[in-house]
Amino acid sequence: MAIRTILEFPDPRLRTRAQAVTRFDPEFQRVVDDMLETMYAAPGIGLAATQVDVHQRLIVIDISAEHNDPLVLVNPEILSREGEVATEEGCLSVPGYFEEVKRASKIRLRAQDRTGNVFERDCEEMLAVCVQHEMDHIDGKLFVDYLSSLKRERIRKKLEKERKERGTRSASLSRARASDGARKPLPERAL
Ligand SMILES: [Zn+2]
Repeated sequence: MAIRTILEFPDPRLRTRAQAVTRFDPEFQRVVDDMLETMYAAPGIGLAATQVDVHQRLIVIDISAEHNDPLVLVNPEILSREGEVATEEGCLSVPGYFEEVKRASKIRLRAQDRTGNVFERDCEEMLAVCVQHEMDHIDGKLFVDYLSSLKRERIRKKLEKERKERGTRSASLSRARASDGARKPLPERAL
C-alpha cells in the first residue's frame, strides 16, 4: 500500500468527470487499498479517487470513531433523496477551510463493493452528507462550488499563496517543519 498525493483546489484535475469502474482486478484492489491508507493518514473521513488523480468512480468513507469501519463505494448512484441538513464541511482538497453546505439529510444509495457486488443502503446524517460530498468529487464538483463566488475566490487566493510559500521554503526548513509538526494539522472531519 502507498499514500498518494491529494490534489488541492484549484487544481484543474479535480474538475475531471470520472469514468465507471469496469474491472475489479488486482490493480484496482491496489488503488482501493492506497485510497484507504491515504484517507486514514490525512486524516480524513472520506476520499474520492478524483482527489488522488485516479479518474474512476470510486469512493472510500469511514466515519467511525475507531477508524475501523471502511465503506468502499464503486459506481455509486443516489436512488432517492429526502429532507435537508446544513453541515460544516471540510475537504482534504481544500485544506483548512470549513463552510456550511446544505444537502439531503437522507439518501438511498446503490453501489458496488470492491469486488463488484451490487448493494443498496439507506444513509442518514453524517454518512449521507459524506456520500453526497464524495459523489460530487467524482463528477468534478467541489464543496466550494456551493459558496458565493467571492468566498470561493478568497479561499482560492489564500490556498495559492500558502502553496507558493511552501514551494519557496528551503528543503532544510521544510524538513524541520515536518519533524516538529509545525504544519497546520488537517481537521479530522475533512473529506
Ligand atoms: Zn472533499
